[in-house]
Amino acid sequence: MTTPASALETFDVVVVGGGPAGATAAHDLARQGRSVLLLDRAGRVKPCGGAIPPRLIKDFAIPDELLVAKARSARMISPKDNRVDIPIDNGFVGMVDRDQFDEWLRERAAASGAVRRIGTFDKITRDDDGVSIVHFEQRESAGKGDGVPTQVRARSIVGADGAKSKVASQQVKGAERTKYVFAYHEIVKAPAVKPAGYDGSRCDVYYRGLLSPDFYGWVFPHGDTLSIGTGSADKGFSLRTAVGKLRDTAGLAHTETLRREGAPIPMKPLPRWDNGRDVVLAGDAAGVVAPASGEGIYYAMYGGRLAAEAVQALLTTGNVKSLALARKRFMKAHGTVFRVLSIMQWFWYSTEKRRESFVKICEDRDVQQLTFESYMNKELARKKPMAHVRIFFKDMAHLLGFARA
Ligand SMILES: Cc1cc2nc3c(=O)[nH]c(=O)nc-3n(C[C@H](O)[C@H](O)[C@H](O)COP(=O)(O)OP(=O)(O)OC[C@H]3O[C@@H](n4cnc5c(N)ncnc54)[C@H](O)[C@@H]3O)c2cc1C
Repeated sequence: MTTPASALETFDVVVVGGGPAGATAAHDLARQGRSVLLLDRAGRVKPCGGAIPPRLIKDFAIPDELLVAKARSARMISPKDNRVDIPIDNGFVGMVDRDQFDEWLRERAAASGAVRRIGTFDKITRDDDGVSIVHFEQRESAGKGDGVPTQVRARSIVGADGAKSKVASQQVKGAERTKYVFAYHEIVKAPAVKPAGYDGSRCDVYYRGLLSPDFYGWVFPHGDTLSIGTGSADKGFSLRTAVGKLRDTAGLAHTETLRREGAPIPMKPLPRWDNGRDVVLAGDAAGVVAPASGEGIYYAMYGGRLAAEAVQALLTTGNVKSLALARKRFMKAHGTVFRVLSIMQWFWYSTEKRRESFVKICEDRDVQQLTFESYMNKELARKKPMAHVRIFFKDMAHLLGFARA
């Protein structure tokens, strides 16, 4: 039974999920004077390699103290152990620990006026006047045990509750058809005695079928700890065994393991992000993680920002079509990159021979610069048209087997 309209607390926006997407949406909307409830179930650190590009740090004003490490180079490692070091010119990739990072984002949203509640989203119903009622189990603090069934009225809702989003599956058609890659990593203590070749400011990326049949394995530095992980869409592939092998290979088999954890990563943006009425999705809930790289934090925050803009437009004009703007703007900015990365992953990560060629191609300075500029700045690098032409012909040579791996 629902409580009559007037008795319930009403918010302009209820944001479900306080990860990077939800915390960003809540922050932006609260700053614009909207009444915002930020609901997060809390209690679990999001499994994540925690690598973030400079564009994110700049656009979302992330303070330096949240960066537990700065990676100044990346090493691509092929099946035959060809190692290609790529210096990150004039910059670095930031590394964040998600427990601190996400909490800082939620607190920033609260400092802007968002009301924080700990609780688990259950469902959305309609009040007598058609306004949505969000039902959730509220808790005093993170942890297990039953919460108190709670209801609030919401003029709009941002679904930012991550992969396998409950808001998406209940409210947005087609969400249930999303496909996932599963990613798993182990957080280990940085070794006191460094193994040969170890560099705490370098990200190592392994392209080997043994470590993943369709993705890559990684060793990312996090200051006092390391994230060692891999991913695959193949449900029969043992990610745990693969990470064990990766730790052996990297000389990190005997370092202390602090956490073992995994989570699904959506493979493709959903065809719709809104319910045509009052709900819009953002981040993993909307399916936006870059293929080939698995990068999702920047896209979640950008998606959260676009969801906030869409909600603001809806609340200002009453036009429900405003909600579709979030997806439209996102795909305009990043749709091409997502499509290119998807083809890249499908082609280059599929056989050992192609992985070998892929790492070989990465020896090219132009490939390195274009790839990293695109990653760092989130824009397709257009500065060197001739480099694109050269890369195209090199790629074709590898594709057609004219070039030797
Ligand atoms: C192993 C692994 C490694 C990764 N490495 C990287 C990386 O190095 N760099 C990168 O950019 N991306 C990486 N990603 C992807 C990245 O973690 C995600 O894309 C990103 O966290 C998405 O942010 P989000 O806010 O959409 O969702 P999430 O971060 O998943 O946040 C969702 C929030 O919703 C809350 N929630 C969920 N259900 C409910 C509910 N019913 N009620 C209330 N609250 C709820 C959760 O508590 C959580 O706080 C990795 C992912 C994995 C699995």
